Amino acid sequence: MSKVLVMDADLANKIAAGEVVEKVVSVVKELVENSIDAGAKEIKIELIDSGVKEITVTDDGVGMDEEDAVLCFSRHATSKLRNLDDLFNIESLGFRGEALPSIASVSNTTLQTNNGTCSTEVIVNGGKVDSIKSIDCPKGTKIKVRNLFYNTPVRLKYLKNLYIELANVVEYVDKMALSYPNIRFNLLNNGKSILFTDGSGNLLKVISRIYGIDVAKKMIPINGSNGDYTIKGLISYPEKARSGRNCMTTFVNNRLIKNNELNKIITDAYHTYIPSSRFPIVIINIEVDPILIDINIHPTKMDIKFSKMDTLKELLMKLITEQLESRNLIPTLRSQEEKQKMDMANAVEGVKEIVISNEKSEESNDYQSLEEMQLDLDVKEEEVPLYDPNSKVEEPKEEKKDRIKKMYPVGLVHGTYIVAENEDGMYLIDQHAAAERINYEKYMKKMGTHDNHMQDLLIPLKIELSNNDYLILKEKMDKLKDLNFEVEEFGINTILIRSHPYWLPEYALEEAIRKIIDIVISEKEFDPYKFTEKIAITLACKMSIKANDHLEMPAMEDLLDRLRDTDNPFTCPHGRPTIITYSKYELEKMFMRSMEK
Ligand code: ZN
Ligand code: ZN
Repeated sequence: MSKVLVMDADLANKIAAGEVVEKVVSVVKELVENSIDAGAKEIKIELIDSGVKEITVTDDGVGMDEEDAVLCFSRHATSKLRNLDDLFNIESLGFRGEALPSIASVSNTTLQTNNGTCSTEVIVNGGKVDSIKSIDCPKGTKIKVRNLFYNTPVRLKYLKNLYIELANVVEYVDKMALSYPNIRFNLLNNGKSILFTDGSGNLLKVISRIYGIDVAKKMIPINGSNGDYTIKGLISYPEKARSGRNCMTTFVNNRLIKNNELNKIITDAYHTYIPSSRFPIVIINIEVDPILIDINIHPTKMDIKFSKMDTLKELLMKLITEQLESRNLIPTLRSQEEKQKMDMANAVEGVKEIVISNEKSEESNDYQSLEEMQLDLDVKEEEVPLYDPNSKVEEPKEEKKDRIKKMYPVGLVHGTYIVAENEDGMYLIDQHAAAERINYEKYMKKMGTHDNHMQDLLIPLKIELSNNDYLILKEKMDKLKDLNFEVEEFGINTILIRSHPYWLPEYALEEAIRKIIDIVISEKEFDPYKFTEKIAITLACKMSIKANDHLEMPAMEDLLDRLRDTDNPFTCPHGRPTIITYSKYELEKMFMRSMEK
């Protein structure tokens, strides 16, 4: 019997509803997923002019016989599934039998396929089969789609500019390569290689091809399960965070999905470890019984609802935070020598044409050409760690304080950075950021204890406000009372504070109270945690030592000790780094000390 089945009409309609070929990436997606379903070990994607002129996808999969080769261009034909329930139970990806006929109807499409016994070529122009014949071609399938939308000029207009079309394809192929480290992916545009993976199954190697070796070395494995979900994957050190959220890649049962709730859990887990405008590089796969998920099919993405989101959230949060809380996350400054290697890679000619990242220029080396990556990889290939998704992640056992060894201050630079040392290297500590972290954690803990201990004021404090602020505050007076202020209205635009929560700093009381009042006035939604945190961050920032505040040596040492004692000594509550280091090794390398040995 033919391998291609004609799809159940109900399913076809359900899928067709959202099914449109609207971008180059929709074509690439359909062809690549067909290749994966055909068991390909190698998939080559060649684009001319970002695919607008020509898209060719070649695989070494099972191929088709002549009957299937023709049938796959007819509506509602699919070799993969028969009804929606199969979607998450089967191995196949390309469930939308609708797409290939749609693609062929708006382009000049040539299919060449060899299933090991016969080879066939089918040419379809604007949806009309123009030729079917036997040819000579290697095992597998090659589909060439030329002149997309040539016969539908209105849709052609909707194609974005070449960079955006290409960026979408690159993002998609990157994610497929991350999803299938066992498949060799080769993506080229106008003959220039954009991504090449070796199909060795080593996920870290794929990461090094996409994000660079530097990132691959700074990935932390996570692995854990509860009764319902198993999560395996890699998360990046905070210092590798990027400005675009598409660096968070999530799979469910190995299928690429997009789920905003999952992304939110991940960014929440990294909260204060990175600035809120940046995102960690994360690649995780969630294994789950399909019964626990609800799928919403969309032409460009797969969205999923998890029926036990709370337990999933708890697990994912735990796996990420236990790693972040147990590691030394101090960014190490690179020596000039290593920096040069990186710069050299960026200077390779032609790179500009393929640098199409949507992200800021500092990350423009995301998509490096094959030449560069080889240059880079030749040097350090052996240094790419092996990633085994089944390996047990060692339980973090380090005590918090042991993450950073005791640091001894030696001086202050620019009135801002404490220089310190220990046997491992040299450290620069931003004194404001460090103090801010200490104070932030202190305020968070004190506000979180529900200790409603109040401090009475001998002389009640009068606070005068603008007319407008006063009117707003009058409506929100209970928020101040919730925070353990004893407060009353006192004449025109004035309130009287009789007592305040015990944790407010005596030495800058009025300033602190005014800050809290500002937050109460400006806050629109009262999420209790966010409200508390905003107060903690604001107070920590205002009450901490500033740049150019002079600290004596013993005070510096005390600050460094207290920083080591915090839950996260590496970043301030805004996600800025508190410490950077030159390791002893890097220093010796930079001063070429080995020369005199
Ligand atoms: Zn600050
Ligand atoms: Zn800060």
